[in-house]
Amino acid sequence: MPELPEVETIKNELTPHVVGHHITGLTLFWDGIAHPSVEEFRSRLVGQSIIALARRGKYLIFGLTGDEALIIHLRMTGSLLLKPTSAEPDKFIRAILYLDEEAGLHFRDPRKLGMMWLVKDANTIVGKLGPEPLEASFTPQLLAHRLANRTAPIKALLCDQSFIAGIGNMYADEALFAARIHPERPGKSLSQDEIECLHSTIQQVLWSAIGNKGASVDRNTYFRPDGTLGTAHFEFKVAHQRGKSCLVCGTLIQRLPIRNRGSYFCPHCQPAR
Ligand SMILES: [Zn+2]
Repeated sequence: MPELPEVETIKNELTPHVVGHHITGLTLFWDGIAHPSVEEFRSRLVGQSIIALARRGKYLIFGLTGDEALIIHLRMTGSLLLKPTSAEPDKFIRAILYLDEEAGLHFRDPRKLGMMWLVKDANTIVGKLGPEPLEASFTPQLLAHRLANRTAPIKALLCDQSFIAGIGNMYADEALFAARIHPERPGKSLSQDEIECLHSTIQQVLWSAIGNKGASVDRNTYFRPDGTLGTAHFEFKVAHQRGKSCLVCGTLIQRLPIRNRGSYFCPHCQPAR
């Protein structure tokens, strides 16, 4: 599933190709992708220009000339591919936005879970998200404040988009391993030192993955806009590494279900207390 580093990579790489361009056409192959409706998309989207592209959490926000925003969430298996206008869509393409009749932005999504919204106010979709972990306003003090009194497992909190935006299963596992914190520890049980360490490892794993253009753990779902793969998964220490040995201590990496998500961790480096 694309998380913050994957969506940030897509935003960075799409920006020079979409901002300043005019939406000249739209083809929908899967009507369920468009909200509020296919009719609204056709009547309101085509003819507008894209004036900005931003990321909030795992959402992409295309600012439009008509004081509206096109918001895209890739969910589990979505990707956005830039193709020549003449390119034939593959069978997993759910929508194509044509830009200045020069390029097509293909929304590819094998599982059909991705969504697009056309809204007047982006906050109707992204307003409830928690803080952005790479912004200066996300401090160890803020993390400590948000963890106080929280009894949920730290792994579940890190994946909760209203607690902190953009982190999912992969980077939560990596940040907790780097901070040597067991994923089932209640949020409020973390010491001040652990919180400061976790704050730092969250930022480290996210920046590192952005540097590596995201993780293509599943080689059939996450692509950069030019169709190439990211390489962040080659640096994963625990995420999706069940059956492999911990690089620090040699213990077998284990997988534990926490709130229906598989959590990968090293039982030696991340002891339960
Ligand atoms: Zn270990």
